[in-house]
Amino acid sequence: MGKDWSHLVDNMSNRLAPSMAKDHPNLPVVKEEGCYYYGVDGKKYLDFTSGIATTNVGHRHPKVVEAIKEGADELGHGPSGVIIYESILKLADRLADIMPGELDCFFFGNSGSEAIEGAIKLAKHVTERPYIVSFIGGFHGRSMGALSVTSSKSKYRKFLHPTGSYQVPYAQVDESPQGVEPEQYVVEQLEKDFERLFAHQVTPDEVAAVLVEPVLGEGGYIVPPKAWLQKVRELCDQYNILLIFDEVQTGFGRTGEWFASQTFGVTPDIMAIAKGIANGMPLSATVASNELMKQWPLGSHATTFGGNPIACSAANAVLDVMEEENLLANTREVGAYATEKLKDLKDKHPVIGRVRSVGLMIGIEIIDPKTGLPNSEGLFKVLDTALENGVLFYFGGNQTEIIRMIPPLTVTKEQIDEGLRMFDEALTSYEEEI
Ligand code: PLP
Repeated sequence: MGKDWSHLVDNMSNRLAPSMAKDHPNLPVVKEEGCYYYGVDGKKYLDFTSGIATTNVGHRHPKVVEAIKEGADELGHGPSGVIIYESILKLADRLADIMPGELDCFFFGNSGSEAIEGAIKLAKHVTERPYIVSFIGGFHGRSMGALSVTSSKSKYRKFLHPTGSYQVPYAQVDESPQGVEPEQYVVEQLEKDFERLFAHQVTPDEVAAVLVEPVLGEGGYIVPPKAWLQKVRELCDQYNILLIFDEVQTGFGRTGEWFASQTFGVTPDIMAIAKGIANGMPLSATVASNELMKQWPLGSHATTFGGNPIACSAANAVLDVMEEENLLANTREVGAYATEKLKDLKDKHPVIGRVRSVGLMIGIEIIDPKTGLPNSEGLFKVLDTALENGVLFYFGGNQTEIIRMIPPLTVTKEQIDEGLRMFDEALTSYEEEI
């Protein structure tokens, strides 16, 4: 296709469902490379979204591109369970090495939602129990099963009558009363919420699994204390319930270790992974121990495209790049640097509220300085101006809308400076306006 496709962009809202062409922002791009998008307008944009925490090794990393090309030269697609490819076996082997605990067996799918569907089905099959307990503000995807455990926005669930799950509050890290340590507060609240749940709504022997994002993603980048996640694990053990981690967004280095499970020192029984696994190629996995996975009846779950050999080749290359370029260490170092820089910006700009971060998963609140309350309108104005200045951030959050800063894990300190300078200017323009 030629470079002039402005007529297609003009007709976009007629051709694409509204969910595929949102208002904020639609940036038509012609090329992507490393930490940058290149717009059809001829401008270069620094990317602090990673395609929503997905292109962790940078856009079109040459090694990933090479692996995709090599894969496509020889292979394409075969019937699942009949044809088997080296790349999928190699990937399963290599992932087993970096997974926490006994998680060493994989069901490959195409998206995060499918990995969640798999995790729920596996837990239900193994325990023969009907219900899942998930968390208020949690986001696990929009397919019907994933939706039934998602609560991050009521609009996702409206009219869809999801069933089979109960929700309890996530760690309310900012709500501890004066004089009570947040960590102690959230752990006690969790215990009480589970007691209440099991006393009034559902009995533990009806619950197949507790499903949790180790860091609340779409729900606003809430980073719980380690003790809170450890308590979730303890409660699961106490009540003999499986624990599922949704690491779709936190996985593959985002929090500074391979998985948030390792960052927080808590191992689940089942994990859902996707996004960063293949740097943008459609791939995901439901992961469990071999022992658990063997109890999943053959044929109860399958997919036509899952574990495609080319996507698996890309995923193997992602693992190579992560290791060769030392991206876990880079994430920790540059993530800490960016967080410090944002603290300076917060001191300078009264419209910045709380900044929450782990690794390169950073959430920034924009508030009304007069009331201290979250200010969605202001947030989108800042995002639009930042984009005009040349840096792309993402947004998200349900209880409070936040700016999500999730650059590729290859990002350098210089690029953080470059992006935050444009962000700084956007904040100044907004503050001059109000
Ligand atoms: N789980 C989490 C934590 C996510 O952030 C997402 C997507 O943003 C999903 C599940 C769903 O993944 P997908 O959009 O690939 O279906």
